[in-house]
Amino acid sequence: MTSKAATRRFDIVIVGGGMIGSALALGLSRQGWHVALVEGARRDAVLAAREPALTVDDFEPRVSAISLASERLLDELGAWTGVLESRHCSYREMVVWDGDGTGRIQFDAAELHARALGTIVENRDLVRALFRELLASDVALIDGVRVRSWSRAQGVELEDGRRLMARLVIGADGANSRLRQWAGLPTREWDYDQQAVVCTVQTTRSHRHTAWQRFSLTGPLAFLPLLNESSDEHFCSIVWSQDTPEARRLMALGDEAFRQELEQAIEGELGAVTQVSRRFAFPLRQRHAKDYVADGLALVGDAAHTIHPLAGQGANLGYGDVRVLLEELARAMAQGLAPDDELVLARYQRRRKGENLAMMAAMEGFKQLFARDELPLRWLRNAGMRWLDRLGPVKNRIAAEAMGLVD
Ligand SMILES: Cc1cc2nc3c(=O)[nH]c(=O)nc-3n(C[C@H](O)[C@H](O)[C@H](O)COP(=O)(O)OP(=O)(O)OC[C@H]3O[C@@H](n4cnc5c(N)ncnc54)[C@H](O)[C@@H]3O)c2cc1C
Repeated sequence: MTSKAATRRFDIVIVGGGMIGSALALGLSRQGWHVALVEGARRDAVLAAREPALTVDDFEPRVSAISLASERLLDELGAWTGVLESRHCSYREMVVWDGDGTGRIQFDAAELHARALGTIVENRDLVRALFRELLASDVALIDGVRVRSWSRAQGVELEDGRRLMARLVIGADGANSRLRQWAGLPTREWDYDQQAVVCTVQTTRSHRHTAWQRFSLTGPLAFLPLLNESSDEHFCSIVWSQDTPEARRLMALGDEAFRQELEQAIEGELGAVTQVSRRFAFPLRQRHAKDYVADGLALVGDAAHTIHPLAGQGANLGYGDVRVLLEELARAMAQGLAPDDELVLARYQRRRKGENLAMMAAMEGFKQLFARDELPLRWLRNAGMRWLDRLGPVKNRIAAEAMGLVD
């Protein structure tokens, strides 16, 4: 039974304190909204100190390529300093090539007059940096408990029976968002029938602060550069997206056989692969909520959209949602509007949906282009890559868009 005493009232309740929900909570609280953040994980688990990375198994398997635009947002929220104090690796170049052809394209931060193209961050370090800021903020952090239900009339009910009422509830509860389901917001989904095999590797050649991506008919393989505490440049996080039967085969291989296949697949760009960590497989599914908002509710991050990891843009799209929702809610506050004002939420949806859809369509196109073996397509992508590589301004424009430097 829920008593009245167990009900707390807020302007805004955010469900899900992952890398997107935590950032949004910080930003909204700074604007003066009375905010609660509910996260199923316990704060001491999130804040736990990390051991230095001496071997491949000491790194967190899930990492994100954070764009300069996302970095700017995290910096404004005060969390980027915490990221820089953790293990992180900025990358200055990106090399993309067709493993079944001759196409190759190289992006260089120097050509864009930028310090870097982005930064590879272990997901856990990013969330920890955000949690440290949250604890020093006015956000009511309700951790170690999950949300059991939500409705406009009954508010947010926690598994321990507590109840939270708010004008606006924000679902930042990830790809399998319950908030999205409770709000009855349908999605468009398509299964890629691919899985991402993820692990950390050590190589004999330095990664040279470069993100490497090789495309093949069965899917892309990315080597993302990592640095440990001694600035050793021989560790990379790999994301090997493959058709499901092939991914299953790779997961079933012994370490030595997997190491050999990986070394072959990356075509010796980083010398020999000397160590591989434990492997994890993530099923890949593209999902897009048809609407991001309902009466008294908004979705952000993976709760609204999940995208193929081939361009490492999932978290960056989520930070795009955070930036726009912060702008719209700051404007609402300045105009004396409630956070659940229909027009405020509609503007948020309008501004984000187009951009997210465009990125998802581009990823789909890219994936299709590389998944086809017909000669004309193969010629087109190889000639296209070589042509683009020589066209400095166009190439740099594409890189600037991926870095989030173009409005
Ligand atoms: C293999 C792979 C590689 C990727 N690489 C990149 C990359 O290089 N760059 C990039 O930008 N993106 C990348 N992504 C995508 C990126 O990881 C996601 O977009 C990002 O983690 C989404 O963050 P989120 O906060 O929206 O969701 P999540 O990280 O899923 O967080 C949701 C949070 O909500 C909490 N929660 C859920 N339900 C409840 C509940 N009922 N009650 C309380 N709490 C709840 C969970 O505990 C969790 O903390 C990759 C994804 C994959 C699969």
